[in-house]
Amino acid sequence: MSSRLADTFMELVQIDSESYAEGPFLEDLKQRFNALGLELDEDDSKAQTRLGSNNLIARLDGDPSIEPLFLSAHIDTVAPGKGIVPVVRDGVIYSQGETILAADDKAGIAIMLEVIERLNETRVRHGPIELVLTPGEEVGLLGAKALDMSALKAKHGLILDNGGSVGGIILSSPSMFSLQIEIHGKAAHAGLEPEKGISALVIAAEAIHHMKLGRITDQTTANIGTISGGTGSNVVMEHVTLVGEARSLDHDACVEQVAHMVETFEQTAQKYGGTLDIKQKQMIRSYRFEEDEPFVLHVADALQRESFPVRFEHSGGGSDANVFNEFGKVALNVSIGYEAIHTIDESIPLSELEDSVTFVLRVIETMQTFQS
Ligand SMILES: [Zn+2]
Repeated sequence: MSSRLADTFMELVQIDSESYAEGPFLEDLKQRFNALGLELDEDDSKAQTRLGSNNLIARLDGDPSIEPLFLSAHIDTVAPGKGIVPVVRDGVIYSQGETILAADDKAGIAIMLEVIERLNETRVRHGPIELVLTPGEEVGLLGAKALDMSALKAKHGLILDNGGSVGGIILSSPSMFSLQIEIHGKAAHAGLEPEKGISALVIAAEAIHHMKLGRITDQTTANIGTISGGTGSNVVMEHVTLVGEARSLDHDACVEQVAHMVETFEQTAQKYGGTLDIKQKQMIRSYRFEEDEPFVLHVADALQRESFPVRFEHSGGGSDANVFNEFGKVALNVSIGYEAIHTIDESIPLSELEDSVTFVLRVIETMQTFQS
């Protein structure tokens, strides 16, 4: 089976674009968008993010009386993503087996391109459409975080970056903070004069003993995941580094848990005369939509009109949707059919690519009646 959509997808995955090396792929996309008559708006975020490319917004004019809509996908991939060779078996696209397929998220981009082709061909009445292409999603949503959201006219959008068959809509995603804790004690010979030392490990152990970790509530979890330090059995441990995280569907609860962890380390270090270097970073910010949020209803209605069963999902991880939603957009991450992402078994059925185009076109066509 061959189609323009499938051909486009196959072409896209053969252009390497691992995170931090997205440049050539974005150049290719700019040519494709130009050929489709879109107006391009590239920012200069690369200087700040150190990624391989800037963010790109591609605009298709539309009836200004209809509310604008944005579609977004990320252009970077995880490794191993170099030299991808797509193969089709029984209507499903796989990689040859040594790389990922990069359906995450080039399926999203192929779908966008096909949607624009069809809008140009069919002359369906539609509002302004903005396509947002971000680099560096896989390494901490870096492109989206650097995007000037005020450059986007549309408030509502679809993030084409969720697995599973067409019909899934992510309604919530957690906040997550990462923590790196360096504890500094004092080295001393462990046999000759241990009393002159301050064990960083003892500080770590006692702090962790007094810390709430694991499942804190049904919404909140916390973990210390790695520990490293020490130079030998005969040396009181001078430094230890711990890496941990906290996540919660409730952003304030997440902030509170992080503060608790930091405070517990501080109190314990003080007790033993050690010192600390703590780095904490918000990786993603939580969001939650109710099932009766107007845009959720709109998207669910489009799915139902095309007979795709609607599935409301709650994600344990983040996507660019977290960033759009943090900065005032209403962004729904929707399923576009890929499976087993970030593995060499990644795949996507051709039928899911087609279904995604049908679904997105339906969302666009029905924007005429959408009122937020
Ligand atoms: Zn993705």
